[in-house]
Amino acid sequence: MSEKPLIDLTIVEASEKLASKEISAVELAGAYLEQIELRDGEIGAYLEVYDDVLEQAKRADEMIASGKGGVLTGIPIAVKDLILIEGRVVSAGSKILENYKATYDATVIAKLKKEGVVFLGRTNMDEFGMGSSTENSAYKITKNPHDTSRVPGGSSGGSSAAVAMRGAIAALGTDTGGSVRQPASFCGLVGLKPTYGAVSRNGLIAYGSSLDQIGPLTKTVADAEIIFNAMKGHDPMDSTSLPDEESKEVPKIFTVGIPRHFLGEGIDVEVLKNFNESVERLKELGVTIKEITLPNINYSLSTYYIIAPAEASSNLSKFDGVRYGLHVDGENLLGDYLESKGAGFGAEVRRRIVLGTYILSHGYYDAYYTKANKVRNILRKDFADAFKEVDAIMMPVSPMPAFKIGEKSEDPLSMYLADIFTVTANLVGVPAISIPSGFTEREGKQLPLSIQLIAPHRREDILFALGKLFERK
Ligand code: GLN
Repeated sequence: MSEKPLIDLTIVEASEKLASKEISAVELAGAYLEQIELRDGEIGAYLEVYDDVLEQAKRADEMIASGKGGVLTGIPIAVKDLILIEGRVVSAGSKILENYKATYDATVIAKLKKEGVVFLGRTNMDEFGMGSSTENSAYKITKNPHDTSRVPGGSSGGSSAAVAMRGAIAALGTDTGGSVRQPASFCGLVGLKPTYGAVSRNGLIAYGSSLDQIGPLTKTVADAEIIFNAMKGHDPMDSTSLPDEESKEVPKIFTVGIPRHFLGEGIDVEVLKNFNESVERLKELGVTIKEITLPNINYSLSTYYIIAPAEASSNLSKFDGVRYGLHVDGENLLGDYLESKGAGFGAEVRRRIVLGTYILSHGYYDAYYTKANKVRNILRKDFADAFKEVDAIMMPVSPMPAFKIGEKSEDPLSMYLADIFTVTANLVGVPAISIPSGFTEREGKQLPLSIQLIAPHRREDILFALGKLFERK
């Protein structure tokens, strides 16, 4: 049997080889650096590859040698350019933070550093997480390694492309309305959005604070579970962080709910076919399938596109050209603000700020923002009701496979529609995972497809168990 190349190992596999000293962390990191050198010129997954990767790996080797290594020691991962690493530039894919250096480690970074994780670099993304294709980056367009004429998904498209081009063993992304699950799906990876509050947001540049979560993009469900376990936990630095909890029992036989009524028009025929085949596969694996109704899920997308821009407009007001990053001189203080924001923010970010400011303005607040929050509560109740009958809910991740670069970038509404299946989990706060389920051929290229599983609050364990079952084929 021929040996798997180092850059094809999963975390579980690499970790075993590192622990048994069959390979060193320096060798492993070196293999990834070589692959990045080879592929990233074309793909554009990284905004920066760190200059101390091999030193980090050397420290990991020392940790292993001294017997202090854990499952993540020496594992090289990529990080979305939205998560703070002390002393490193973190730009949120934006010109306004082009040279901004983080003054502290995000809680997740501090936790992973303690484990001896090796950080390869920061990955490209839609500016401040706003987008579904990574075309809204102020820096460059990232290409999908499965077909370079297509997008890698977004907003964590640099992270998904980095792993798919074999330029990282795994990556961190953030998911406000699908930005981990959808790029994972476009690139054939596993992507987890944890329960809201399960993973600390301290040191994550905020987009929509009531929706944002950091999540892993990995090759397998087991790897996603490892990273999630290392990142999760109560953090006094994040007031929305959940208390720690005992683990629960996972059901022996699963019941999975399908909201058939929501799988209507607008879904690509091949996506639907693959989804139906995946349902059959679950049945064969002994899972009970039940049709469910989520009576108000049709309102999810419009609710999301009210709440997310409203929160964004508030979160982004601090980037005024005075306190952080880019500064452009105007005639007076107001001029400074206008000039700095005008030069620093891209078109989509300005669109969301204008929209969000309008939604939150006197006279419109109740009509839009308050109403959206009422709908959000109704959605929470619909999901709670559904979870009385089923252990998890299944739907596609995206209504279509990876689309062409430029196909939707001129039409924001069609881009927003691509999020139809992902935003609800963020509104409701429940965990969701995207798992590869096959391929569809387009113009001679194999494009990955995925299913999405959604579980009740704090039941990532159900997603992992079901995900592993499905993955085994
Ligand atoms: N595409 C969605 C948006 O633009 C979701 C982005 C995200 O999850 N960060 O808001």
